[in-house]
Amino acid sequence: MQVGDEIAIDIVGMHKWFGEFHVLKNINLTVNKGERIVVCGPSGSGKSTLIRCINRLEEHQRGDIIVNDVELTSDVKNIAEVRREVGMVFQHFNLFPHLTVLENCTLAPMWVRRMPKREAEEVAMQYLTRVKIPEQALKYPGQLSGGQQQRVAIARSLCMNPAIMLFDEPTSALDPEMISEVLDVMINLAELGMTMICVTHEMGFARKVANRVIFMDGGEIIEQNEPEEFFNNPQSDRTKLFLSQIL
Ligand code: ADP
Ligand code: MG
Repeated sequence: MQVGDEIAIDIVGMHKWFGEFHVLKNINLTVNKGERIVVCGPSGSGKSTLIRCINRLEEHQRGDIIVNDVELTSDVKNIAEVRREVGMVFQHFNLFPHLTVLENCTLAPMWVRRMPKREAEEVAMQYLTRVKIPEQALKYPGQLSGGQQQRVAIARSLCMNPAIMLFDEPTSALDPEMISEVLDVMINLAELGMTMICVTHEMGFARKVANRVIFMDGGEIIEQNEPEEFFNNPQSDRTKLFLSQIL
C-alpha cells in the first residue's frame, strides 16, 4: 500500500458553527494521496460533520478546505468538481429503494457523467463483482441484507471513479455477522491504493488498514498517530478514556 507525497485533501485552520454552536474548532488535516485515515471519537465529537465538510454536504465558515487542488468555496463549479472526485458511504446506505441494485449503480454515471447505458451497466457489473454480489443486480435494495446493501452503496460510489472515498460509520448499522463482509471490501479498496477517510470504531480495521488514526473530541482533533503508537501509547487522557471504553 503506497502513500504518495501528493496532497489529496488539505484542511487548514477550519472552523464550523451550527448557529451559535461551535462544532469544529481549528481543524488542520493534510491527507496525502493513497493515505488511509481512520477517525474515531465519542458520539457528538464532530466526526460526521468533518467528513461532510469535505464534500460540502456541510459548509464551513472559517479556514480552507482544498480537495485535489480545488478550494471549497460557495462557488458551485468548485463544489461540483470536488464532488466528482469524492465518493461517500453513509451509515444507512441511502440507496434508492424504488430502483434495482443495477439502476442504483448506473444512475449517476448516466446522468452526471453522460455515460451510455450499456457502458454504465458494464462498469456497474464490474464493481458489483468486486464487492461480490453481481448476482443481486436485478433485485431491489429491500430484498437484500444490510451487509449486501452497504456493499451496493460502496459499488455505487466506485462507479463514479472517485479519487477519494469517505466512509461514515459504514458498519455501525449492521448485524455483527455482516460487518466483516463490508470491512473486507474496504480492505480491498485500501490495498488497491484508494485514498480513504473512514469514521469507524472498528479498531481491528484501523490496525490493519490505517496509516493514521485520528481521535476527535469536542470538535477538535485531540491526537493522531500511526495505529501501533495510537493504540499502545495514547498521549491524552481523553484518548485513553475513549480507548478504555471501546477496546
Ligand atoms: P459525530 O459524528 O462525532 O457523532 P456529529 O458531527 O454528527 O458528531 O455532530 C457533532 C455535533 O453537532 C453534535 O453535538 C450534533 O448534535 C451537532 N449537529 C450535527 N448536525 C447538526 C445540525 N445540522 N444542526 C445543529 N447541530 C448539529
Ligand atoms: Mg457521526
